[in-house]
This record gives sequence, structure tokens and C-alpha cells, in this order.
Amino acid sequence: MADIISSHPHNELSRRGLLFVLSSPSGAGKSTLAGMLLEADDQIAMSVSVTTRPQRPGEVDGKDYHFVTGTEFEEMVADQALLEYATVFGNRYGTPAAPVQKSLEAGQDVLFDIDWQGTQQLYQRAGEDVVRIFILPPSLADLRDRLESRATDSNEIIDSRMQRAASEISHWDGYDYVLINDDRDACFAKIQNILTTERMRRSRQTGLIGFVRDLVAQDLE
Ligand code: 5GP
Repeated sequence: MADIISSHPHNELSRRGLLFVLSSPSGAGKSTLAGMLLEADDQIAMSVSVTTRPQRPGEVDGKDYHFVTGTEFEEMVADQALLEYATVFGNRYGTPAAPVQKSLEAGQDVLFDIDWQGTQQLYQRAGEDVVRIFILPPSLADLRDRLESRATDSNEIIDSRMQRAASEISHWDGYDYVLINDDRDACFAKIQNILTTERMRRSRQTGLIGFVRDLVAQDLE
């Protein structure tokens, strides 16, 4: 992963792709924010995870997740086809490695909606290329409201997600940026700012050496 150098059609200078992670307890608005980012920015592509969790109404196989059996998941683990994987709420989730590699080669950044365990693994494998954002709800009452309004999960599942929320929140300090989602548009603007800034890091602007060499040469002419 570390040796991938990408060239964006939109940028004059070539740039290294980055792995942009959004984590939060479920219900903190992360999926909405991820969708807004994909809509607004054509240089970033979503990583579609595999999961053994049952498909929810409205979810599209291959778009929201690749829904797989436990055996298929185990095969991917054995084949080292997953960049990272974890068990969340008793179901298994993982990031297929090949599409991430392909996106980076095409000069795309990659957006991940994964939990703290996956974020840690991704960071261990590709630390320099990873930017980690944790999104907090403004309150636990707000989180419950959002989970209930989603209306796709049973009360039992909502209760268990609320219980999990506190433990997920305890991992906030494993992230580079922490945002409180008390205003969706303001939070989205901050996410865009972080992405813009991280793309400008000197280490990611691989085309700079040539640019500066030409710049200096022009000055001497
Ligand atoms: P949900 O079932 O609500 O879609 O997702 C439950 C949790 O699993 C969320 O916190 C989500 O970020 C996490 N998750 C989704 N895909 C992956 C993945 O590929 N890897 C890891 N580690 N977590 C994931």
C-alpha cells in the first residue's frame, strides 16, 4: 500500500491517495455524512465492506455492503483478501483489499465507514496514508432518537447498539480528528476542510519535486 503513487486527472501535480476513515457509534450520522462527501467530491470512492450481517430493507447488495455467508467470509480471511476485519454486534465485517488497491492506482482517495478495530488495523498496515476521523453525537439522547427514527432495527437491537455506543466512544483517542455532529452541514464542512488540508500535506504531493525544480529553473532563465 505504501508504494502507491497516484496521479489525479483533476490536479496538475501528482498526489498520493489517502485512506479516509469515518468512525462513530451507529446513529451518529456518519452514513449521511459519508454520502454527502461522495456526492460532493469525485476524487474519493467508498470502500464497500463485506459483512455476514443480514441485509436490512432498502440496502443494496454490492453498494451498501457485499452480503456474504460466514464460510465466504472465512475464505476471504484465509486468502488474505481483507485489509482489515472485525466482529461488530456479533457479525463479521471486513474491507476487501483489491478494490482499495484499484482505487488508489486510479488516483482516487478511499472513504471507509469502519469501526475502531478496523481503523487500528488499517493504521498498522498503511499508517502514513490513513486519516482518521471520529464523529461524536451531541448527546446519548440524540443518538437514541436517530437510531429510533431509522426504524429498521428492533428495540432489542437499538438497546444493544446504545450499550455499545459508550464502549465505541471510549476509542475516540485513537483518531486524528474528533467532530461533534450537532449540526450536519457544519460537521460536513469540517470533514471537507480536513480532506482538503490532508491532501495538501507535503508528503502526499508527490509531484512537488518536479514542479519546484521547474519553478526555480524558470527563475534562473
Ligand atoms: P452496520 O451494521 O450498522 O452497517 O455497521 C455496524 C458497524 O460496523 C459500524 O460501526 C461500521 O462502521 C462497522 N463496519 C462496517 N463495515 C466494516 C468493516 O469493513 N470493517 C470494520 N472493522 N467495521 C465495519
